[in-house]
Parts: sequence; structure tokens; C-alpha cells
Amino acid sequence: MSGLFFVHAHHTVPALMPELPEVETTRRGLATHCLGAGIKRVKVRDRRLRWPVPAALPETVSGSRICGLDRRGKYLIMRLDTGWSVIMHLGMSGYIRVVTLSVAYQTHDHVDFVLDNDHCLRFHDPRRFGSIHVTEAPAEAHPLLKSLGPEPFDDAFNGRALYTRSRGRRISIKAFIMDSRVVVGVGNIYATEALWRAGIHPGRAAGRVGHARFGRLTEQIRAVLGEAIEAGGTTLRDFTRSDGQPGYFQQTLEAYGRADQPCRRCGRPLRSIRLAQRATVYCPTCQR
Ligand SMILES: [Zn+2]
Repeated sequence: MSGLFFVHAHHTVPALMPELPEVETTRRGLATHCLGAGIKRVKVRDRRLRWPVPAALPETVSGSRICGLDRRGKYLIMRLDTGWSVIMHLGMSGYIRVVTLSVAYQTHDHVDFVLDNDHCLRFHDPRRFGSIHVTEAPAEAHPLLKSLGPEPFDDAFNGRALYTRSRGRRISIKAFIMDSRVVVGVGNIYATEALWRAGIHPGRAAGRVGHARFGRLTEQIRAVLGEAIEAGGTTLRDFTRSDGQPGYFQQTLEAYGRADQPCRRCGRPLRSIRLAQRATVYCPTCQR
């Protein structure tokens, strides 16, 4: 398991993987420590991530300066003044923390970016589903990124676009909004929450969701992601904890993880089904 825990009001839920809000929280946390810093050297202790860490990574990025840190979907893009970019994904269990150089590395601390400000960005990933790539072309043109759909906070993500795209589609609305070609960063937790809030049954065929309901759904997707990012912001001070993970926090969840508990809207028990191999909680009364 990941070792990351989302804490909320009633109990602690082990997080299956970092989702968009955690990646955005990571981006903001790292940016304050690394923007404008030079990379003195890169220490790769273990190359075996989802794809091998490029052997040329240290020589490619050492000596350059970090001039931007962006997010695209769940990818972090570290832009360098040489025109190169480092593209990082946290996979299912990864995190990056900021440590001072004197902090000893731990098991699964696979890669260090040693900066010229006495800090180090340390990439940790027990399950190794994360990745690090380096590219000279614009990062957005990289094969991993070029097919990604719009960001949930972009204007291109709206009810009309989803409505148009979904006509004739028989896949469930939940699987539809979790497809990164439709919109990036809507993982299982946020899809479950947004559908509960929008009152849409997760198993309903995407092609049978009307225009107005798609409008409500896009608003709720933005709302749940935005609230999670805001909650994550309160933990930024923990980013330099040398002893462990940054301790992501999440807003109170209304549906995810609450099977058989009373619906917070109608009081009747929530139900759990499996959709596209994922546990899905919904309210049979409120979601149609
Ligand atoms: Zn209900």
C-alpha cells in the first residue's frame, strides 16, 4: 500500500494513489523551494521506475536552472533554462519532498535533484509506478502528454463539449469522465464525489446524460478538485519534513468510502457497485 493517508473528520482512508489535487499540492510546495535554483547534480540510486530513469538525466540537467514548475494532468513539468524539461509522474505511491543536503536518504528514495540552495528534491516511490523523463522538445509534445484532454479548470472543459463528445456513447458516465482524453485528473475518488453532488447515477450511459446535467457535472468536478487543492494548501508547511511523506489532507468526502452509510442528502443507505473494475459508491435515491 501507498503509505499516504488522507485524514478526514471521521476516519483515516489509505490513499490508493496521488490524484490531481495531490500533484498540484506537490507542485505548489516544491515551487517555493526550487524556482530559480540551479541544479548542481542529480543522484540516481535506482533507475527502475515504471520506465527506466534515462541514463543521461544527470548530465542533461546538471548545471541548468529551474525556471518553471508546471502541472499537466498528473504530470509535473520542471522547465529548465536550457530549454529542456523534466517530466515526472508520482505513479501510485510516489512523492517528492524537499530536504536539506544533510538528511540521510531512506529506502525507496530513488532520485535526488541537488540544488545550489542547500536543498534537494527527493523522489520517493515504493511501488515504482512513477516515472521521470527528460525532453528537449516542448514538454506538451511528449508522447505521454500530447493526447491528454483539457484540464478541468480550462474553459475547454464545459458541459456543451462533454455533451457533444458523449452522444452515442454507451460507456458509463463515470468511466467517461475518468478517461484522460475527455478530461485529465478525475480519478476514482473525485468522479464518485462529483457524480453524487450532481445527482447522476454513475452507471448511466454517457450518451444518455443531458446537456444541463453535463453542465452541473463539470461544475461539481471543478468544485471537488478545487476544494481538495485548497485543503492541500494547508499542509504545504509540511513539505520539508525530512522524516516522511508530505501528509496530504483531503476535504470531507460525502460518498467515496461511505458504502452502507446514510446519504448526507436523503438519509437512505449508500450502495456500492463495481464499475470498470473500480468500487463505486452512489445513492440509489438521489442519483439517477
Ligand atoms: Zn440520497
